[in-house]
Amino acid sequence: MCDSKSCAHTAVSARRFFLRSSLAATLAVAAGGVLPGNRAVARTASPPKPQNVLDPDAALAQLVAGNERYVSGVSRRHDFTHERPALATGQNPYAAVLGCADSRVVPEYAFDCARGDLFVARVAGNFANDDMLGSLEYAVAVLEVPLILVLGHERCGAVAAAVRAVTQSAEYPGQISSLVSAISPSVEKARALAGDLQETATAQNVRDTVAALSARSSIIRDAAQAGKLRVVGGIYRLGTGRVEFLG
Ligand SMILES: [Zn+2]
Repeated sequence: MCDSKSCAHTAVSARRFFLRSSLAATLAVAAGGVLPGNRAVARTASPPKPQNVLDPDAALAQLVAGNERYVSGVSRRHDFTHERPALATGQNPYAAVLGCADSRVVPEYAFDCARGDLFVARVAGNFANDDMLGSLEYAVAVLEVPLILVLGHERCGAVAAAVRAVTQSAEYPGQISSLVSAISPSVEKARALAGDLQETATAQNVRDTVAALSARSSIIRDAAQAGKLRVVGGIYRLGTGRVEFLG
């Protein structure tokens, strides 16, 4: 068996593979061995899902096509049983998603994906705290995902809370206040824009998070500058299921 990526890269990949394996081992050791199965180990033979070895543009096109199937009500039937053996030994998702914890916004459904396709990190308000950033860095450095999508959505409760904090000085108990504090700067920016503040703040939060990923992470920035990674933003429409990608 020979998948396209492992064949094409055989001649040039020995050193890269060593470096990647070393990084994977370092990350795994540093994390006390609790990190999910890593792709470098799996790729001693071939990626568990060869069809997921995509360049950034092809990965985005695949997300768009999957969302179109979901919107149109023609999602594929996902029989998980036949993929279990391959995925038991590794993973090579074709995209990472930083999404909201909202129960109505489920990336695997929204993009008609199976297990092993998306590396999803979720937090209410889909912003980049240190833990989200570290998760995405793992996806880029070890799993070599070619695409990161920051996925906001309509009528996000976390954004709404931040809007009320900014416009009405609302206060929140516990660590909810930390979510609000993280999103509030985007709300402040959005106040200068025309349109409904909840809508503009939602988009601004996504744009700010996209920018923050590269600004705060040399792993993400370097991969993007090398053309191995794209970081894009999108808004999920609750009524239709459509994801509008932000330009
Ligand atoms: Zn939300």
